[in-house]
Amino acid sequence: LASFYGSFALRELVPGAISPRGWLRDQLALQARGATGRLPEVWPDAGPNSGWLGGTGECWERGPYFLDGLIPLAHALADADLLALAQRWIDAILASQRPDGWFGPDSEDWWPRIVALKALVQHADATGDERIVPFLERYFAYQAAQLPARPFARWARARGNDEIVAIAWLHERTGDPALAELAQVVLDQSTDWERWLRVFPHREVTKRLKYLTHVVNVAMGIKAPAMRFLLDGDPAHRETLDAGLANLDRFHGQVHGMFSGDEHLAGTDATRGVETCAVVEMMFSLQTLIRVWGSAAHADLLERIAYNLMPAALTADVTSHQYHQQANQVLISVARRDWTAADDDSQTFGLEPNYGCCTANLHQGWPKLLRTMWYATEDGGLAALVHGPSTVRWDGPEGVVEIETTTTYPFGDILRYEVLSGGGEFPLRLRIPAWCSEPELAVDGASVAAIVVDGFVRVERRWTVGDVVELRLPAVPRLVERPSGGAGVTLGSLQLVHAPGEIWERYGGSDQFGEWEVRSRRNWGLGLVSDAEAIAEARVERGEPGAQPFALVDPPLRVWVEARDLPDWPMVRGSAAPPAIAVATDNLGLAHARTVALVPYGTARIRVAEFPLLPPDVPGTTWNDAQPNSDDGADEWEVDPDLLIAAEPRNPAEKGEAR
Ligand SMILES: [Zn+2]
Repeated sequence: LASFYGSFALRELVPGAISPRGWLRDQLALQARGATGRLPEVWPDAGPNSGWLGGTGECWERGPYFLDGLIPLAHALADADLLALAQRWIDAILASQRPDGWFGPDSEDWWPRIVALKALVQHADATGDERIVPFLERYFAYQAAQLPARPFARWARARGNDEIVAIAWLHERTGDPALAELAQVVLDQSTDWERWLRVFPHREVTKRLKYLTHVVNVAMGIKAPAMRFLLDGDPAHRETLDAGLANLDRFHGQVHGMFSGDEHLAGTDATRGVETCAVVEMMFSLQTLIRVWGSAAHADLLERIAYNLMPAALTADVTSHQYHQQANQVLISVARRDWTAADDDSQTFGLEPNYGCCTANLHQGWPKLLRTMWYATEDGGLAALVHGPSTVRWDGPEGVVEIETTTTYPFGDILRYEVLSGGGEFPLRLRIPAWCSEPELAVDGASVAAIVVDGFVRVERRWTVGDVVELRLPAVPRLVERPSGGAGVTLGSLQLVHAPGEIWERYGGSDQFGEWEVRSRRNWGLGLVSDAEAIAEARVERGEPGAQPFALVDPPLRVWVEARDLPDWPMVRGSAAPPAIAVATDNLGLAHARTVALVPYGTARIRVAEFPLLPPDVPGTTWNDAQPNSDDGADEWEVDPDLLIAAEPRNPAEKGEAR
């Protein structure tokens, strides 16, 4: 009998049940006034003439993408204008349904409807809109009848796994066994990403563009093992997934934990791009994995992507964005760079650099993260997964419980949970990230042993108003070696970078969404002299996050390391050369080690995140002995031309094949 034999380990709370606080609220408010709130005014594809609103405009993925982020943002902030805007989109989509179940504008493609389903389910969760269940019943019945003759193709095939979430959602409400059969057909017609993760056929920088090498498809595809688990309940899917994630990291992993793709899988070099759609889709995939498996490790990775790459993809006022970001990003300009497939403006900030997919899709990033902060557990308790400032309202065993989390995490390391209202007896689980080896826990001021089981500490008791749990997650700065021979530095979830300052030059765009190039204010070349031991003892300086902590104005955290300037670190095709070349061009006589403040990755749009490792100062020399103009030893340190990145010819014919 067809059924869903697997189940979600954690139960999601409805959008709006978790409210942002502190720096996270500021971030969402900026998005509401900027990237999301202003977009319909300036971008027709999210404007009133969208085909999804009954107009004559865009009929494909952009309308649903926008709505998929607009809904959780509107409910997170309880913003009346955004709620009204979301309602107009929902009403138009519901009104578009034909008697046979098909909906949306005049187009044949299954794919954009997969995105629309994600949005409709969130809307139903948030509002209890009773129209959604019968709407989905009609659509899925239509689809079940159509799919044998009109199967998923192209983008729908590459991304079909994403539809399982909506089918499972409806199955939970109706129990209709036909939905499990439909889910199986959908999986059979979708790319077998689980097999791809197991075989891992694409281990090099992509030369031939395919749906299977497309970074956004891969970021979405990693949820496939979890979707299969929901159907058959086989725990082996989790092993396949984690082995596949390890392969992704090994062959395409970047210093910050995300894999590259510009816009196809692009290897481990620190100047390869990561597309903004891949950032938000990887975040959503990890959110789904957390729901299915309750896995602390996936929350660790989610925090690394959310707290480093997400803010870095946007301007500090949360309006314009990049299509590709680089870990080592020392010049942001319109120029030909070594992308697998993208235009020369891909790395600039703007309304739609390169292509408008990210313009439409980025909205889901921050607001959906909020929903990963708290979940209800099988045993009638509450679990904190992704950490950050929030207030949660939850239907506990004895009525509504409200808990406020006061923290500056990820900049600070203390999380304070206070029961604001309600109470009762239930277990509270708090995630302990893998990087934290000595968590400290106190309940109502009394220290208790922090016993970590499967990545969580558990406090069970009768809770009453005013109860306070304090969790401290001390982090030690860590040197992380890279395949390049260089290394990065982390502190907890944060990637740390050298930020030489930024000069922003507007070259186009509108008042709402400027187009920007950015240059370095000072020499950006820097190598680490501190070794792993010295890094672990580096001084950490924490401040209070300001209104926008992801900006250079006043970074809320600094870590002081020993480093040496590398003014001769060359550039290759618009990007910093690999660290090995920086070492090769290092003139030991030129500069001495100095103490340099590293700052969070997300604060710096011009940055070095993957550093060359340098030997300490040559004994006997001092600053005064340095010979800045000496070229002694120049021959010895000459750059090996074979180390330079080979310039690959671009094939314009291939470019349009897959975006
Ligand atoms: Zn994109």
